[in-house]
Amino acid sequence: MRIAVISDIHANLSALEAVLAAAGEVDAVWHLGDIVGYGPEPDAVVARLREVGAVGVQGNHDAAAAEVLGIEWFNRDARRAMEWTRAVIAPETRSWLAALPVTLTDGDATLVHGSLRDPIWEYVTSAPVARASLAALGSRLGFNGHTHIPIAYVEEDGAVEVVGPGDGSVLELRGRRALVNPGGVGQPRDGDPRAAYLVLDTTADTVTWHRVEYDIESVQAAMRAVGLPGRLAARLAVGH
Ligand code: ZN
Repeated sequence: MRIAVISDIHANLSALEAVLAAAGEVDAVWHLGDIVGYGPEPDAVVARLREVGAVGVQGNHDAAAAEVLGIEWFNRDARRAMEWTRAVIAPETRSWLAALPVTLTDGDATLVHGSLRDPIWEYVTSAPVARASLAALGSRLGFNGHTHIPIAYVEEDGAVEVVGPGDGSVLELRGRRALVNPGGVGQPRDGDPRAAYLVLDTTADTVTWHRVEYDIESVQAAMRAVGLPGRLAARLAVGH
């Protein structure tokens, strides 16, 4: 099976469409949350995920948009974007986001937004934090997002190896346990503004990261047109 794994779309439909087109024929699409927030097209992104039969989990922005979480913990720009998101999304979008689970296990993989020990909130940004997640991981593979940075933590003889992938990087899992992050579709933060995603090949037991260009300027224009914070639009061009 070839499975496209995507995360942190953040209501960026152009980036999502570019990723789906580049991934081509896949057997499944798994999403890791933060479907909405920051970007200009929350309803359309949710509709597109439903259309392709994507399965996945709730992120902190999804929970806030669905009003199952407060927004007092957001910084100023994120709060303004979330207030806008809450005001414009359709009731059907809100209920779909509210119904997402915070963890989902499919075969030997578990999907979360943040981490295994704290699915909504924790950022996995170091090997020690990844080790705690791997200890809490009930399956062989874990997939997470939240940091918007592509990376993998692979368990080998009790040690944790850190893999920092580029476009086209292939990780051969060879039966090992790993926590893998595809990077962000709609708001990358690793200095590369291209949309990030990965493909899991369950037969070859490999993960391959990809980057794909999309029309950033049109998304920035759409964000400005609806009054979303300029800083959120500007950061898309630099991938931070
Ligand atoms: Zn996010």
